[in-house]
Amino acid sequence: TRTPFIAGNWKMNLDHLQSIAFVQKLAWTLKDANHDFGAVEVAVFPPFTDLRSVQTLISADKLELGYGGQDLSAHDSGAYTGEISGAFLSALECGYVLIGHSERRTMHAETDEVVAAKVTAALRHGLVPVICVGETAEDLEQHGPSAVPVAQLRAALENAGANPDIVVAYEPVWAIGSGQAATAEQAQQVAAALRAELAERDAELGARTRILYGGSVKAGNIAGFMAQPDVDGALVGGASLDIPEFSSIVRYQK
Ligand code: 13P
Repeated sequence: TRTPFIAGNWKMNLDHLQSIAFVQKLAWTLKDANHDFGAVEVAVFPPFTDLRSVQTLISADKLELGYGGQDLSAHDSGAYTGEISGAFLSALECGYVLIGHSERRTMHAETDEVVAAKVTAALRHGLVPVICVGETAEDLEQHGPSAVPVAQLRAALENAGANPDIVVAYEPVWAIGSGQAATAEQAQQVAAALRAELAERDAELGARTRILYGGSVKAGNIAGFMAQPDVDGALVGGASLDIPEFSSIVRYQK
């Protein structure tokens, strides 16, 4: 059984002071609602400069929130100006790291090879990579719904071994920040194809790996995604910056 996972990707929003107030308020809101973190896991992905503050707050208050970086370097240390090592994220007790978000692929020219190297870097440092895959509108038209995300996943796992501890996030590029979410059926179709790809590599990997949907997830559409057999959670962008909205997404069952 796969524990549902709701993750908030803050992107380049909230500085370290804002992050403290935000995480405190989010934790209180979920606590007030008696949220069972064992039943639905929650994590946030703040900017790098927030992570130390978020770690301090979460550990001091023993909050059951997970957190991680939005990216990492493929390298462990050295002359890579501006980059952040997986070792640094590990030292801040991050559980997760996003890899291959479409904004990184398109705006920072991250190829499948770079993504694969970052996945092995994350695993090397004991971080669970949240591997982001997804097709553009043009890909969808030319290749159908699953071909590009499945090929991206296969490439990302090139050097990751048979049964790595990962999370997969299916984020159709056309659905990100557009207000045009995929339908629950579309998300299920691609999630099933991604799971089949994982199962082909290793049956247990297919069975236990959580696959998230991302792209214009809101309180109003989360239940439909979560009702799908192969969708185990959501990677939420814009709506993760609104505490009542994000809490409603986390609390989708109620
Ligand atoms: P939105 O939820 O704002 O569409 O962003 C999705 C996303 O890119 C999460 O990583």
